[in-house]
Amino acid sequence: MAKRNTSQRTAIESVFHQQNRPLAIDEILVAGRKKVETLNQATVYRNLKRLVKDGWLIKINHPSFGTLYERSGKKHHHHFHCNACNRVFEFPGCLMDDKKAAPRGFIVKDHEVFLFGVCPDCDRIYGF
Ligand SMILES: [Zn+2]
Ligand SMILES: [Zn+2]
Repeated sequence: MAKRNTSQRTAIESVFHQQNRPLAIDEILVAGRKKVETLNQATVYRNLKRLVKDGWLIKINHPSFGTLYERSGKKHHHHFHCNACNRVFEFPGCLMDDKKAAPRGFIVKDHEVFLFGVCPDCDRIYGF
C-alpha cells in the first residue's frame, strides 16, 4: 500500500518536473496516468493535498479555472494563460509597480497578475 502511494507521488512529482508550469488537477491526472495507470481523480487529489502539506507544492488561484498547483519556493512571478490551449505559464520577474497602482490611502502588500494571450506553440500551429 505504502509502496503504491510512493510511486503515485513520484509520478505526480515527475509531471511537475517535466511541464514546469502551474497545472490543473485534470492536467496532472492525464499526464500522471501515462506513468501510473492506477491514478484517478481521488488518488491525484489525495497526493496533491499531501504535497501541499509537505510544502512541495503551493496552490494558486486562476481567475476562471480555480485552483492550480505549482512548485513552491519560486521567486515572485506572474502568470500567463494561453487562450488557445488553456495552459498556464510562468513569466519570471515583475512588471508592476505596486505603489503607483494604488490610489492614495491604500497600502498594497502583494499582488497576483494573470496575463492572457497566445503561447508560442499555439502561435506557430494556428498562426494568430
Ligand atoms: Zn497555447
Ligand atoms: Zn509582480
